[in-house]
Amino acid sequence: MTQLSRNRRDFLRAAAGLTLGSTLLPSRLFSRSGVPQKDRKVVVITFGGGARDQETFAPEGQENIPNLMRELIPQSSFFTQVVNRGILGHYVATASLATGVYETINNFASLPPQSPTVFEYFRRDLHRPASDAWVVAPSNGFNRIGESSHRSYGPGQGARVILPKHLLTAATKGTPDYEHLLRDNYETPFFAPEVAGNEFELEQLRTLLKLSVNDFKTHALTLSSPDELSVYIVRQLMRQAAPSLLWITMHDIDIAHAGAYSLYIDGIRRTDRLCLEVWKAIESEPEYAGKTTLFILPDFGRDSDEDAGGNGFQHHRTGDVMSRTTWMMALGPGVREGIVYDRPLDSTDLVPTIGSMMGFSAELSQGKPIQEFL
Ligand SMILES: [Zn+2]
Repeated sequence: MTQLSRNRRDFLRAAAGLTLGSTLLPSRLFSRSGVPQKDRKVVVITFGGGARDQETFAPEGQENIPNLMRELIPQSSFFTQVVNRGILGHYVATASLATGVYETINNFASLPPQSPTVFEYFRRDLHRPASDAWVVAPSNGFNRIGESSHRSYGPGQGARVILPKHLLTAATKGTPDYEHLLRDNYETPFFAPEVAGNEFELEQLRTLLKLSVNDFKTHALTLSSPDELSVYIVRQLMRQAAPSLLWITMHDIDIAHAGAYSLYIDGIRRTDRLCLEVWKAIESEPEYAGKTTLFILPDFGRDSDEDAGGNGFQHHRTGDVMSRTTWMMALGPGVREGIVYDRPLDSTDLVPTIGSMMGFSAELSQGKPIQEFL
């Protein structure tokens, strides 16, 4: 793990000009941001299906992530060693990121997280309405991610979840023109539950997102992938509802499971472009500009070529170092720019870190606030 992290650090220092950060000198980052805690917004982008260094940060991979390398990483604090010690399935891993606890729910079942989510902590401690916390998720299997089954929290206290595919299915009644935007969950066994209950209804397309069904359908035809559809919805949501806590999960890279290397690379390139698009939206929307921290992190990695138990880029089955050691970057007011940290973090540290920034307590999280941000 240390070697992987050092390599990643050295790639970034060489190519993106980052400076090595030190944990010995507390930087008091957010106290210097000048943004009152009550006005802060946080946007989180996670990728379901990380990518390996040889296709991203390593010299031979950097051409796939030009926007991260040239635009976003130089403005960010970058952590090279975020270790996921949990189950490597995308739904359960994303639930772990969102609760700060390694969840043990069945990855292929329609179940809420067992521990309180960041959305529940945020809303309860800060007395925020449901409209202030949203999740835009890639797969119909994520419809329960917004709130936990914990007895002290739970139904009605978490985030509202938009499943863009569900919205599109409702708007287009499943016409073949839209099939490329409706591919779901690339893992097996294939799982896509019928969604009922907490989903975003078509009526809300009109009233909340201010989109007519026809405009939505017409625009969707210009999009090339499910993640592009998600980012389109995210931009509409930012403009019309401006939630303070917005969580976006992307999934295009995970097409790697299908085994086509070129589609996996296309997914990486698209994700790279969409991350910059979200950051540009943050910088251009008055409700977000100058007061928003953006976190970007994969849920976990993929298998290495060396491990005999895996099949290279295609899957994340082995639980080896490559598939567990991922990274995280943060950018926004008060975050030191162009710094790389290689000390290990845990995937569960994200939620308490957001809590420290926004002023709520993630009391049941297993993680710790990242000191470099405090
Ligand atoms: Zn996967």
